[in-house]
Amino acid sequence: MSGPARGNVTINIEECKGCGLCVESCPPKCLVLAPELSHYGVHPARYTGHDCTGCGICFYCCPEPGAITVYRLAAPPKAPVPQVQTGGEHAPAL
Ligand code: SF4
Ligand code: SF4
Repeated sequence: MSGPARGNVTINIEECKGCGLCVESCPPKCLVLAPELSHYGVHPARYTGHDCTGCGICFYCCPEPGAITVYRLAAPPKAPVPQVQTGGEHAPAL
């Protein structure tokens, strides 16, 4: 996917139990299970760092409260629309 990022996500590995539900449910597939183990002996979820849309699906499917935080990024401001001059002035009568 291209264009500016629309979202960001953080994983709290102290809360993540490595179930992988978020990885499977993420539409753009921007979550993975980390190769290393957490203190719980599981592979915690990790954000790849790109393509998050901020949809929140991972947040809603995660069974562990506080494991995932989703941020929706503000859209860049649009360029101002140029003012169109309508009509005109009549020439003064002679
Ligand atoms: S918010 Fe949506 S796009 Fe972003 S990581 Fe979660 S499921 Fe994937
Ligand atoms: S759904 Fe939640 S607990 Fe399961 S891997 Fe993703 S962040 Fe961890």
